[in-house]
Amino acid sequence: MNKKYRKTIIAGNWKMNLLPSDVKSFTEELRTLLPKAKTCEVALLVPYTHISALRRAMKDNRISVGAQDVSVHDKGAYTGEISADMLADLGASYVIVGHSECRQYHGDSDFTVGAKAAAVLEKGMSPIICVGESLEQRERGLTMEYITYQVLAALSFVPEGKERSIVIAYEPIWAIGTGKTATKEEAQEVCEGIRDVVREKFGARVARSVSILYGGSMNPKNAAELLSMPDIDGGLIGGASLKPHDFAQIIDAVAQVTGEEQK
Ligand code: PEP
Repeated sequence: MNKKYRKTIIAGNWKMNLLPSDVKSFTEELRTLLPKAKTCEVALLVPYTHISALRRAMKDNRISVGAQDVSVHDKGAYTGEISADMLADLGASYVIVGHSECRQYHGDSDFTVGAKAAAVLEKGMSPIICVGESLEQRERGLTMEYITYQVLAALSFVPEGKERSIVIAYEPIWAIGTGKTATKEEAQEVCEGIRDVVREKFGARVARSVSILYGGSMNPKNAAELLSMPDIDGGLIGGASLKPHDFAQIIDAVAQVTGEEQK
């Protein structure tokens, strides 16, 4: 399917790493390494405490800023939670929902993930909806069945008219932070399957415009081959996004792939 209808997104997930006081030096270094021309959307999904500093450092909007989670609630007596409204007010454009670490450590169910995606969309931001199978599910041949279930559950919460604002990240759990990457064929097969699910639910026009990212040990060495696949529209990058040089090399891989395609 033609990639011209959708954005390529390289998004870094800092998880619970670096300090707010590290943001300035990180962005100064990254800025010197970014390609002159914008070849893709670059986003950094940082802890809540870093968002303002990152927005200040990136006043020129060269890099979009986002968060890694959000409350399902609008406001009120929810000690410790952060609402979608608060994130939008800080200038966030993206919010990760359903990262496997949130599903595992905070018990986020598919229902919660869908409600979080809806909260993000209602406030004009894009949720990056993470889905992915465990190693056991893959070995038992259940990958696509499970992913279809996760995607459909989240899509059922998307408010009418907001379908094109979603981003989906395929992140096999066994590949996150392990150094084991899905092969480009494995990643493509699932991303294509996800697009089929989006098409069945929302039609061909929405399906061709939704960006589907791959995440799971993406690094400067494997980025280009993954990004060259027809249904992989970018990456959600954990470890390698903490080093400006590695992150910039992954961004460079987009230009490399686009250049190859144009030849
Ligand atoms: C992630 O946390 O979303 C991720 C893909 O991590 P890593 O790149 O470190 O595997």
